Amino acid sequence: MNRIQIRNIGQIGGLSEGEACTPGGNFFTHGGNQGSIWSSTEDAWLLVEGKHIIKWGPMSDEPSLPPHTEVWDANGAWVMPAFVDPHTHLVHSGTREQEWKARLQGASYQEIAAAGGGIMHSVRSLRKAEFSALLDESRIRLESIRSMGVGSLEIKSGYGLDFDSESKMLRTTRTLAHEYPDMNIHSTCLALHAIPPEYCEDANSYVRKVTQEWIPVWAEEGLIDFVDIFCERGYFGLEHLDALLECAHQLGLPVRAHVNQFSVMGAVKRAVEGGALSVDHLEELDDADLEALKNGETYPILLPGCSFFLGIPYASGRKLADAGLRVVVGSDYNPGSAPGFNPFLTLSLSCLKLGLMPEEALNAMTIHAAGSLQLSDRAGSIGRGKEASLLFISGLKDWSTLAYHFGHIPPLRVMLKGRFI
Ligand SMILES: [Zn+2]
Repeated sequence: MNRIQIRNIGQIGGLSEGEACTPGGNFFTHGGNQGSIWSSTEDAWLLVEGKHIIKWGPMSDEPSLPPHTEVWDANGAWVMPAFVDPHTHLVHSGTREQEWKARLQGASYQEIAAAGGGIMHSVRSLRKAEFSALLDESRIRLESIRSMGVGSLEIKSGYGLDFDSESKMLRTTRTLAHEYPDMNIHSTCLALHAIPPEYCEDANSYVRKVTQEWIPVWAEEGLIDFVDIFCERGYFGLEHLDALLECAHQLGLPVRAHVNQFSVMGAVKRAVEGGALSVDHLEELDDADLEALKNGETYPILLPGCSFFLGIPYASGRKLADAGLRVVVGSDYNPGSAPGFNPFLTLSLSCLKLGLMPEEALNAMTIHAAGSLQLSDRAGSIGRGKEASLLFISGLKDWSTLAYHFGHIPPLRVMLKGRFI
């Protein structure tokens, strides 16, 4: 088993709750579903064994090395947990530059969708794609995302909208997870992304098909970790969300839900009361929604890259954080509304546009994001027994430097599950 002692770490950030503070450190904890505070300690060493973090401490008190231990001098670099991206549509076929150019000339996202573009454009392309081609183009994206320091991510289906094509997407995600065991890659069924043309606007029949026939098969085959739905006018309504919650409950699958991107329709309250694990988007949010979130356990996931690219309002991260909620931020990486996944740009947008402070944004993309994927015991923070998925970053004045240079990827070395990539 490999054992690496990392010495001369300038600062360790993103320590797990419950870890003891060392001199010069700065550590606080919250109870319940309250947000965490980014915690750090200075001038430290850290021991990694196999895939895991064994212990860490101040350089002034560095223990002698266990036998057969490799030593790596971080030379003052700072360390934080690898990013966790809890909301992506990374598996898709092709891109949609033509639509983007139409939007630059004044067409809205909704107008493009009404003309047969948008999600349906990606559906036509996905249905035609061979499995191997879909896997190849998805792998290229995954290679890029991991090189930028994302160690765990969620990938949704939702561009197939028929049984075989959705299966092809889910198998692609599972194959990527198999090919990259040093990452945590979770698979979400989003067959309820849009109503396919075969159902001629008959959402009820399609939802019945998906919830009563398709999802049970995929669950049985072990292809899905979560289920999801796009609740929006023209897509799926509250009764469809109820049907999905019921199906998921019977199968023991956690629910994620796209809600409140363009309209408030009561979906947040319904999802929270139905025990959903996350509600994602929330660009539009009223007081009743906020109250529901405060009274529940559901994670709010915000997607500033989508607002940036579509030019729609941003979610109020500030309001949610002030309410004490565990705010999560993801990329929403997809070919239509957020064709980018640079976590450092997402971090900057979280500060500039969602109103989060840099340390809050870092928590939103690590420890809280891991919670929203049920990975808190392994990923998203630095602590004893956690996976050694770590970013070593040079040139930081303080943690805010990461968000201050927007879109810039700093000098970075990435370790995933105990090995440098
Ligand atoms: Zn999405």
